[in-house]
Amino acid sequence: LVSRKKHPENTIVDLKGEKIGDGAQNLIMGPCAVESYEQVLTVAKAMKDRGLRLLRGGAFKPRTSPYDFQGLGLEGLQILKRVADELDMVVISEIVNPADVELAIDYIDVIQIGARNMQNFELLKAAGSVKKPVLLKRGLSATIEEFIHAAEYIISKGNDQIMLCERGIRTYEKATRNTLDISAVPILKQETHLPVLVDVTHSTGRRDLLLPTAKAALAIGADAVMAEVHPDPAVALSDSAQQMNIPQFNHFIDELQKSGLYQ
Ligand code: PEP
Ligand code: MN
Repeated sequence: LVSRKKHPENTIVDLKGEKIGDGAQNLIMGPCAVESYEQVLTVAKAMKDRGLRLLRGGAFKPRTSPYDFQGLGLEGLQILKRVADELDMVVISEIVNPADVELAIDYIDVIQIGARNMQNFELLKAAGSVKKPVLLKRGLSATIEEFIHAAEYIISKGNDQIMLCERGIRTYEKATRNTLDISAVPILKQETHLPVLVDVTHSTGRRDLLLPTAKAALAIGADAVMAEVHPDPAVALSDSAQQMNIPQFNHFIDELQKSGLYQ
């Protein structure tokens, strides 16, 4: 059902008026993890000042170590909803437990399924069974074919509002946290009719690479680019090495606009 052969027209995912997949390229930004109301509000206001409404933030954090910050859970979703209601933004947040999907849809606009859960088939089926757009990330070591099969799990349950997100894959290269597979973008667009996104934060793991990889993603035709922003990355409870602070965020937007790749 996700195949372009069966369905030649692009699927456009409408997020409160922000259309993903219609040819205009968008940015999804926000903190790695929701830490407090003030933290999310600060980032959201900076985004709103630049005309951005797609706000990401993790409330349920799938961390590699059990001793790392696990997220605020439901309280995090409540914070996101409060900020989104105040500033008219669209909330994208990861859900890790199939049992939480029903609860989460009252708080968020997009269910994110993270790389570590790309093949959590019960979660895919749960997300496919609700009327909420899904942002599906490519698994850490997933082939493009496996990624497409994961999307098929969602659509086969009746939900065709799916966005695919390339977020880097595991290779032998150590210069970046993962290896951004930029050619996955045109391949996924050829093979499927779904919008394709690129997450430059988790693919590179390096703040200095966010801008060049975002340009590459826009140039190759990504429907949106995701990057993380935190008021003070040095004290962030997760991903402190790669989040941008607010001045860096503004510089990032300025440079993308100057490049002519982003309006
Ligand atoms: C995230 O976007 O918050 C995240 C954890 O990313 P990934 O699942 O791609 O590692
Ligand atoms: Mn992160």
